[in-house]
Amino acid sequence: MSDYDLNFEDTATAFSDKSNAELKRKYQLFRLINSPLLTNISTKLTEIAFRLRLPVKSLVKKTIFTQFCGGETIEECEATIRELGKANIGTILDYSVEGKSETAVFESTKNEIYRTVTRAKKDLNVPFAVFKVSGIAPVEVLEKVSAGKKLLKNEATEWENAKARVLEICEYAHSLEQPVFIDAEESWIQDAIDSLAMEMMEKFNREHPIIFNTIQLYRRDRLDFLKESHKKAQTENYILAVKLVRGAYLEKERERAEEMDYPSPIQPTKEATDRDFDAAIEFCLENVENVAFVAGTHNEKSVRLLTELIEKKRIPHNHPHILFSQLYGMSDNLSYILGKNNFNVSKYVPYGPVKDTIPYLIRRAKENTSVMGQMSRELDLIRKELKRRRLEH
Ligand SMILES: Cc1cc2nc3c(=O)[nH]c(=O)nc-3n(C[C@H](O)[C@H](O)[C@H](O)COP(=O)(O)OP(=O)(O)OC[C@H]3O[C@@H](n4cnc5c(N)ncnc54)[C@H](O)[C@@H]3O)c2cc1C
Repeated sequence: MSDYDLNFEDTATAFSDKSNAELKRKYQLFRLINSPLLTNISTKLTEIAFRLRLPVKSLVKKTIFTQFCGGETIEECEATIRELGKANIGTILDYSVEGKSETAVFESTKNEIYRTVTRAKKDLNVPFAVFKVSGIAPVEVLEKVSAGKKLLKNEATEWENAKARVLEICEYAHSLEQPVFIDAEESWIQDAIDSLAMEMMEKFNREHPIIFNTIQLYRRDRLDFLKESHKKAQTENYILAVKLVRGAYLEKERERAEEMDYPSPIQPTKEATDRDFDAAIEFCLENVENVAFVAGTHNEKSVRLLTELIEKKRIPHNHPHILFSQLYGMSDNLSYILGKNNFNVSKYVPYGPVKDTIPYLIRRAKENTSVMGQMSRELDLIRKELKRRRLEH
């Protein structure tokens, strides 16, 4: 029996930094997005409103944006960084501008990622930086490279420029010894991302885990990919660093596979995803001397599994190669309790101009509908805390 108790039902700790008014607002918002129908209607309306340039920014900013994002700029995120830091939770500043395709935007996104790396280096409350390759490279080019297709001359130039941007970011992070995550994206652009991430790991993870690739266990082939990545790192003498996630593009992946008539790369069931995710955790822990890993999840069972294995193997809670991470606005019960028990835990805090974070917010809203399962749990916890504080709802 361990000498500590991870009580993930401890809502007093989980919501300790939320005022009554904030908690009530959170409750109302999560109740709204619990309904798939309302979520679909409101996401469509929001997209249309932004396209028509209707003045919805302030409404979105006051509601769903504040729930899931830290602000529009790094400066606006400072209060959140401090708040989370007080609970022993790190912040990962995630510049969430998606779906752009102009070179000028790629360059300005690269510069913003630089700023997050610089900010992270300044204090221990910001332990990692993160970026998406699609934020600094054209998706069409990533898709063609992943499919092994020949690039046209201008595409070849764009690919070279994209590789140079990734290299510059990683070189800069390495010069500061500042770890950086590379997010995983849709399967049809992921091979290009993996090849870049592997190259960067090989270059910069010789002494410390600086570059982290991301592995999505909702893909049938990823547990094998993890093991192959480990073998390669061992043979070539660098530290494998990975963020393990289940995967965020389930519907899109399945729809495309059906439309284009190829076998879906996604696991047949949620149970199969869960099994591979937990197997990946166990594999990384078995190899913790030469693998650094992040359990990027809101799944309580997976989090508990990892904490129990850490206890069983008598590994210190804050072992530098073992990290937990959740998204801002979700599963505070896990993050706050892990922080209280001295595990390395951090939260992705997305930021950026409100209208550019819409794709991210839509993914969060969809993930939080009752269909995906997480929502009722989130609502139950808020309800429990409202009740504990004797607040009406
Ligand atoms: C810190 C952090 C970083 C992240 N980074 C990335 C990233 O780089 N790339 C990325 O794609 N996602 C990323 N995510 C999102 C992540 O992939 C999941 O979408 C999200 O965390 C929900 O999964 P879960 O493990 O938290 O919990 P759960 O609620 O237990 O699992 C839900 C997930 O299970 C899978 N699933 C659900 N139903 C089925 C089904 N019928 N069949 C098969 N699988 C199913 C899906 O992946 C779904 O998202 C990140 C999440 C976190 C917390």
